[in-house]
Amino acid sequence: MTDLTLDAQTVAAANFYDTHYAGAEPVFLEPGTKLFLGSPESPRHCRFCGKIEPEVTFKDEAHALPAAFGNTGLFSYYECDACNHLFGEGIENHLGNWSKPMRTLSRIKGRNGVPTIKKPGRDKGWRVEYADAGFQLKEYEDDPFFEVDEQAKQLRFELHRDTYIPVAALKGLVKIGLTLLPDAETQHFRETYDWIRDTDHSRNFVAEFPVFRTTIPGPMRNDLIMLMLMRRRAGIDTVPYAFFTFAYGNEVLQVFLPSLSQDQCINGKPLTMVPFPNPGSLDAARYGRPRLKVEHLTGREPVKGEKVPAAFGFDSVLHTAPDAEA
Ligand SMILES: [Zn+2]
Repeated sequence: MTDLTLDAQTVAAANFYDTHYAGAEPVFLEPGTKLFLGSPESPRHCRFCGKIEPEVTFKDEAHALPAAFGNTGLFSYYECDACNHLFGEGIENHLGNWSKPMRTLSRIKGRNGVPTIKKPGRDKGWRVEYADAGFQLKEYEDDPFFEVDEQAKQLRFELHRDTYIPVAALKGLVKIGLTLLPDAETQHFRETYDWIRDTDHSRNFVAEFPVFRTTIPGPMRNDLIMLMLMRRRAGIDTVPYAFFTFAYGNEVLQVFLPSLSQDQCINGKPLTMVPFPNPGSLDAARYGRPRLKVEHLTGREPVKGEKVPAAFGFDSVLHTAPDAEA
């Protein structure tokens, strides 16, 4: 059953965003969708480095969203091959490592299917794997990994994250938003484009940079992505200029797109914002309510061996004989 009653908090958030922001048409990506942003006309211009053909080439198809998120259908005409490689080998890897546990739990199929997460190192150990039949969870008796709570009907565990630099992962997220911007807006983000291209991740950029991450529990589609760009309404000077929301699987990320010129009016003021309202769980009574976490991806040093708490709900436990596999 779908719960259509909106609580007061959601209504207040919807009103806040309606008053302060105007949204562009959301982009919905499903299997089979193929969308191109920009124009293929020559000479092509790269909005990231500012260079024009033939100084830079545009041979590769530039994904607006890393393929790890399951999208293979949104491209842009305004990302040159050099920038494409720079991002692919840098910030998109950090974003990939940071988001991997969430993509596994959301069953997001990248180029090689849903990522498997296993105990780090060479020793045998736990494994969380998804195949078409569902999740396969493996642990060894002498090395327990899953905590079964029969009363709450929950299986709890902690996935580990591959090493990543938080601010580089943040740049990877911001890059998605900077790709979505209409041409007329790019002038306000010149420094932001330079910042995401800068491989020196120690450079200071903006003081406050929260990412609102909402996890919606329960079965959600793993092959639908929604992207939406929001810009501050004219005459408003109390909120950040722009942000975008990125929904995939069970996750909704709200990421600000800092503009040094347009955000001058909020400089030094504390950011007090509620997250953008999300569609909520299909059945809140059964799966629970969405959970918000404010992520501060501002660290400049590599983060190693980070743990990501996770839980699966279940209906019943079936005990099976251990298999012979080592
Ligand atoms: Zn470029």
